[in-house]
Order: sequence, then structure tokens, then C-alpha cells
Amino acid sequence: MTPTMLPSSQQARDVAYQLHAYTNARSHQRAGPLIIERGEGPYVFDTAGKRYLDAMAGLWSAGLGFSEKRLIEAAHRQMQILPFYHTFASRSNGPSIALAEKLVKMSPVPMSKVFFTNSGSEANDTVLKLIAYRSNAAGQPQRKKVISRLRGYHGVTIGAASLTGFPDNHRSFDLPLPNIMHTGSPHFYKDSRAGESEETFATRRAEELESLIQREGADTIAAFFGEPVMGAGGVIVPPPTYWDKIQSVLKKHSILLVADEVICGFGRTGKMFGCETYNIAPDVIVVSKQLTSSYFPLSAIIMNDYMFEPIADESNKVGLLAHGFTGGGHPVGAAVALENLKLIEERGLIANVGHIGAYMQERLRTLVDHPLVGEVRGVGLIAAIELVLDKKRKVAATTPGDVGSIASRLLHERGIIVRNVDDALSICPPLIVNKDQIDELIDGITGMLHDLKATVVN
Ligand code: PLP
Repeated sequence: MTPTMLPSSQQARDVAYQLHAYTNARSHQRAGPLIIERGEGPYVFDTAGKRYLDAMAGLWSAGLGFSEKRLIEAAHRQMQILPFYHTFASRSNGPSIALAEKLVKMSPVPMSKVFFTNSGSEANDTVLKLIAYRSNAAGQPQRKKVISRLRGYHGVTIGAASLTGFPDNHRSFDLPLPNIMHTGSPHFYKDSRAGESEETFATRRAEELESLIQREGADTIAAFFGEPVMGAGGVIVPPPTYWDKIQSVLKKHSILLVADEVICGFGRTGKMFGCETYNIAPDVIVVSKQLTSSYFPLSAIIMNDYMFEPIADESNKVGLLAHGFTGGGHPVGAAVALENLKLIEERGLIANVGHIGAYMQERLRTLVDHPLVGEVRGVGLIAAIELVLDKKRKVAATTPGDVGSIASRLLHERGIIVRNVDDALSICPPLIVNKDQIDELIDGITGMLHDLKATVVN
């Protein structure tokens, strides 16, 4: 515990009573929490009054920033009318109906139905269950295997964590589940071979997918999960032709495509959906986070008829679809989402991502000449800076993440929040960010790189 942590302080009580997500519990006991007290636009303030530009929009999610009154009013209004009702056993509520209709109609490809859940993980777990249910219904009970990608992030519940392609999400949790396997990530900078072009790298990844499918037996593979742009894996932007090539392999073998748009959805990549940016035609789209700007926990599974029809038949055979969450289709969450989507449209925030995103990407790319920057990548308002100590070997330090952690800490001291995934600094500011705030961010990063050089290069 730090000496400033007085016994009855919030910090000490946090250490005494909370186990934190994605935290080393022992380090937390020593260092205590950073307690965020309030928000204002893209900024948050800690209990000491220090202001931070949250260049991660919380967890890639607070698209409208941290003080949008219209979202608060939407929640308040709905709380007064009907603070809760469920969607089990054919019950429904107005906001969930309106939101389902809106999501189907705004989807980039023809969709048919929406199933509501409360988090990205729950949504992906639910999709896994629905895929098995569908295969049984379609008379293909052997078609149960699912492929996702190394460095892909799909959440932390048992199924979703199995989809997630990170060793830490599996190690000591006895995961992944046996029917879930991983193919290579689309990270050209890290994974390409000498002399490979982006296109030949994309071809290789598609061929590796084809080989995995052949090895496992094409008629045993039910679905492929992928984020249009990988977010939590370190903002990995697919190389040109990647998605076309992957999709043609999946199509050839009638494998369902699930687009995990939990980060990309609602403008992040410069279009409403990442699927539009990369010409992806999925059977299922999973959304969450920016759907309510994270003002309310809500996620949704948007599916086409090809997915829905066999599921409907199976529920008829079994007697009901025995799956659902108490909070699924929550009227307050749905009301907040409807207002959030209205605001994104009304304020032209997708166009803002076009202008401000282009400005951010351009300014970030001026950093690639810095000796500690190996790669700057990104699209729209999502980006990453890959820190390296050795540009040729593309490596940072003996322990991956050491340099990235120092860089995040230095930025934190400067009042800027980013998130390091190993040595990649992820940047994903609220969609409402303006040019001055991007300048503040880039100036902060430039200063940090100067300090980092002094710290890590001797
Ligand atoms: N899918 C993607 C692409 C994500 O980025 C995340 C969370 O970061 C999830 C799923 C899991 O969402 P949640 O944390 O709400 O369970």
C-alpha cells in the first residue's frame, strides 16, 4: 500500500474489498487504484482533481464522451416509465422493439432478427450456443467447430474467452474449449515473412485457413469469428485483400461468418460498421460498447435469416429457445442506445471520424521516424503505435510489454490515457474528439517519446 493510502480512504477500501478485472491482484494491493470521479467530454478527472484526456474512450466505448446529457435524460425518462421489463416468454417492451428494428434496418447487409444481451462476452457466448443449436436444427450435428484468430479478442466468458486468441485468457483457466481453434492474425508488420507483400501475406493467411479447415474436415466447421479491425489485440488493421480472401474460403465451405463489431461498430473505422469499411458480408454481427457509449451495459446479436430460420425451427421442436438473460432487451439500455444512435446521426459523428480521424492518422504517422516507433497503424479514430528498441528486428525488450507499460505510465503522468497491449500503444478516443484535443494527444505522445528515449536507451 502506498503511504498516501489512509486506512479509511477510498483507495484502502478498494484494496480491501474489490478484486479487479485485468489487474495483478498483488500489485494492486501495493499500489492501490486510480479512482476516476467524474467526466467531461473526452476528459475524466481523478479524486485528486487531475484531468486526463481519455484517448481510449474508457474501454474503446464511450463514443459520446463522459458527460452527454441527452443520454442521461433518455435513461431518466425511461426509468420513470418502465425501469425494467424482460423479453422472456414472448414479453416485450417498446424500446427493445424500436432498437431491434433500428439495428436490422441500419445493418450493412440484409439482416432479420436481433437477440439482446448485456456484454460483448455474453453476446459471443450466445452466438456460440446459437451456432450449435442451428447446426443441430440444420441436420448437421457434426458441424460444431469454430475458428477465430490469434490476437483476436472476443471476451472472457467460457466460450468467448476460448474464442479470444491470447494465452493469458486461457492459461490457468483450463481453456480454450476443445471445439474452438485459432488461425493466424492479419498483422503484416509482425507476422509477414521477408519479401512478402501485403497481398501475398493475405493470400498466405487465407491458405492457412483453408488448410486448417481441410485438416479438421470442412463439414465439421460451423463458423469463423473475426473483428473487422482487431482492437484489443493491438489495433491490427487487415492488409488489403485480406477479408476478400478469407470470405471466399468461408463461402466455399458454407461456414458462417460472425463479425465482432463490438469495437468497430457505430463509426469507429469511419463508416457506421467496420464491415462496410472492409466489404465484409457476415451472417451475424455482434455489437456492444459504442451502442450506448457504455452508459448502460448492452449488447446485441444481429443475424440474417440463414442463421435465424433453423433456430426458429429448433425452438419449435424443443418447445422454446431455452436461453436468455434477465437484463436482455432492458428498456433503459435500449432507450439509451436509441438516443445514442440518434445523436451519432444528428451530430454527423461518422463524418467527424472521417475528418478528425484522417487528421489523427496523419499526425500519428509523422511519429514513425522516431527511433522508438516501429509502426503506426490505424483507420478512422482507432490506431496503435508499435514501440520498438530494435527497428530491424521489430522488438522492444526482453519481456514484451515492458516498454509499452513505461510509455503508458509516462503518458498517464502527462494526463493522457492510452492502453498498451504489449508494446503497442492503443488509441481510440471518443467520437466527439476535436482537432485541439488530437493536437493535445499527439503533443503528449511526442513528449512522452522524448522521455521514453531518455529512460530506455542508454
Ligand atoms: N468483442 C470485442 C471485439 C471486444 O473488444 C470486447 C471487449 O473489449 C468484447 C468482445 C467483450 O466485451 P465485454 O467486455 O463487454 O464482455
